[in-house]
Amino acid sequence: MLKLEGVHSYYGTSHILHGIDLSIEQGETVTLLGRNGAGKTTTMRTIMGLLTPKKGQVIFRGEVISGRLLKVGIGDRKGIAYVPEERAIFAHLSLVENLEIARVGMGDHLRGTWTIEKVFEKFPRLADRKKHRGANLSGGEQQMLAIARALMSNPALLLLDEPSEGLAPIIVEQLQKTTCEIVAEGITVLLVEQNLDMCTALANRHYVMDQGRIVYCGTNEEFMVNEEVRNRYLTLSAVERTLEAEE
Ligand code: ATP
Repeated sequence: MLKLEGVHSYYGTSHILHGIDLSIEQGETVTLLGRNGAGKTTTMRTIMGLLTPKKGQVIFRGEVISGRLLKVGIGDRKGIAYVPEERAIFAHLSLVENLEIARVGMGDHLRGTWTIEKVFEKFPRLADRKKHRGANLSGGEQQMLAIARALMSNPALLLLDEPSEGLAPIIVEQLQKTTCEIVAEGITVLLVEQNLDMCTALANRHYVMDQGRIVYCGTNEEFMVNEEVRNRYLTLSAVERTLEAEE
């Protein structure tokens, strides 16, 4: 469904991605793991066309989409939706308005399964808060709303960037359950996430990045027994832990 072939991306003159090869089949849940600064968000931004690779290409359902800021759909086919780490909720709009805005300019042919009613069925907490302004929602509610808004474009592929960031464990549990339900609806998911338990509970396969390169790819079963990869690329060193604790 999605393929990155030898992708090199830059911010100005800073060379961040050094030849990323990655592929996701329809129906898979795949994670992109790695320490802070490894290039995970940059990879997502490149998929979304927010960055144009200087070399290599991004292919979605057989079509080269590198540098194309779509992504609601291609022709009559469903596209890609992105939930950025910062959630990007409109603070002054109500929860319902935040959902409705996702459909502005969307052709009728793409108005599919995900309606406001269905979103409220899947996220009952959002239904309770529908008249609240974005700014008055909790972190967990904002994250749910960001995902719900992405679903309103009826995507074939959903990119989730660190959805559990800053959320309480109980909310993370709900988020995991909801993501599972989204996958069961047939949506393919690419997940960037630091919570490894969530990753191994949800994903079929994992990619690990380091310094702008893919350094590991394996099935969930392979990844779970590969302590070396976890220790080398994902576990924080004692020094990093101390620095984080001091921040
Ligand atoms: P994190 O979890 O910290 O976001 P990440 O793996 O998603 O980590 P990226 O955000 O993709 O990492 O960042 C990769 C590198 O690109 C880092 O060195 C970062 O400092 C740099 N970078 C990110 N955004 C920009 C930008 N707008 N301009 C210049 N450099 C950037």
